[in-house]
Amino acid sequence: MAAAPFFIGFPRNIIQADALEIHLKSEGRGIDNVVYIDVDHHILIERLTGRWVCASCGETFHLISNPPKIIDRCDSCNEALIQREDDREETVKERLRVNDELTKQLEIYYGERGNFKKINGLKNINDVAKDILSVLKK
Ligand SMILES: [Zn+2]
Repeated sequence: MAAAPFFIGFPRNIIQADALEIHLKSEGRGIDNVVYIDVDHHILIERLTGRWVCASCGETFHLISNPPKIIDRCDSCNEALIQREDDREETVKERLRVNDELTKQLEIYYGERGNFKKINGLKNINDVAKDILSVLKK
């Protein structure tokens, strides 16, 4: 038997969700579960805005998980580190706001179909994985 399809970050909106449903139905298939891993905005902002990149050699650092030895300098070539537009706090906050609106629509869409499963993403990664497996088995 072929493996079940598994999408990450898709569908992103109702139009894509409808298209996916129509496509799967045409193949006699459907969606069993939609898993949403919920993480507080302040944690996401911390993770997403921590990335800094060397303007010269492209080496990537993260202020929490992989900090440079000197706060604004590249460990490899000692050039200045820059923050990409996508990683700036204002950009991240706007992305999260738009994402929240779309997610709410998808939560209603899949909630009506009874297959929307919300997981607490603030636990450690092993517990999050266990929770995902447990909702997939139901
Ligand atoms: Zn560098």
